[in-house]
Amino acid sequence: MATELSGRTALITGGNSGIGRATADALAALGATVVLAGRDAARGEQAARRIEEAGGTAYFLSADLHDEASARALAVRATGVTGQIDILVNSAGIFPFGPTEKTTEDAFDDVFAVNVKAPYFLVAELAPAMAARGHGAIINVTTMVAEFGASGMGLYGASKAALVLLTKSWAAEFGPSGVRVNAVSPGPTRTEGTAAMGEALDQLAAAGPAGRPGSAEEIGAAIAFLAGDAASFIHGAILPADGGRIAV
Ligand code: NAP
Repeated sequence: MATELSGRTALITGGNSGIGRATADALAALGATVVLAGRDAARGEQAARRIEEAGGTAYFLSADLHDEASARALAVRATGVTGQIDILVNSAGIFPFGPTEKTTEDAFDDVFAVNVKAPYFLVAELAPAMAARGHGAIINVTTMVAEFGASGMGLYGASKAALVLLTKSWAAEFGPSGVRVNAVSPGPTRTEGTAAMGEALDQLAAAGPAGRPGSAEEIGAAIAFLAGDAASFIHGAILPADGGRIAV
C-alpha cells in the first residue's frame, strides 16, 4: 500500500536514540526507507530491527560525527545504501550544561563540532544532489534555548542558534531548487539523553503552558510533518515543539 513517504529515503543522525529514533519510527511508518546513524551500534541495530519488525525498511550506519570528513563519509555511505537521500534529519547532538567559567576549550569545540559542523557538511554533501533532482527536505533539530538566555546553557544554545540561522540560510540557498529546509525546536523532552536530569527536566518544562516535558514521539511527529508534502509551502521555519514555552 502506497503511503505518504513511499519511495522516499531518509537519513536520520542520532537515529539510534531519543528524538532521532522516534523520528525514524515516524518516517518509516509513513513508508520511507530510513537510514539511522549514531555511534552506538548495538542500539542502532536494535532500533533498525524494531522498524523492520513493524514492517518498515531500515538500515543502521555507525558514525562518529565531528568534522567535515566524518559528515561527508556518512552522507556517501547512506547514499550508497539507498541510492539517494531525499530527507535529512540532523538530530545528533550533545548538550553539556554548566557554568561558563568551568567550560573547557575541548568541550566548547566538541559542542560546535557535533551540533554545527557535522550538520553543515552533511548538508553540503547531500543538498546539492537533492537540488539537482528538484526535491528534498532537510530538518534540523534545534532547541528552545536557542531562542532565549538560560543560565548554564549558553554554549549549547549558541551552537543551536547557529543551526537556526543556517536553517534559514539553507532555505534561501536550496529552496529555489525544491529543497525545503526547516527546523523543529524542542522544549524539554524525555529521552535517553535527558534521563539523568530527573526532576530538573520537569522544572524546566513547568514554565510552559503544557507544564510537562514532551515525549520523543511528539517531537518526531513534528519532524515527520515537516518532512512530508503537507508542509510543501513551508521553508525556513523554526517550528517550536516545546509545550508553548517560548510563546509565554
Ligand atoms: P539523545 O537521546 O542523547 O540522542 C543524541 C543522539 O546523538 C544519539 O543518537 C547519539 O548517538 C548522537 N550523537 C551524539 N554525539 C554524536 C557523535 N559525535 N556522532 C554521531 N552521533 C552522535 O538526545 P535527544 O534528547 O534525543 O536529543 C536529540 C537532539 O534533540 C539533539 O540535537 C538535542 O540537542 C535536541 N534537543 C533535545 C531536547 C531534549 O530535551 N531531549 C531538547 C531540545 C533539543 P550515540 O548515542 O550513538 O552516540
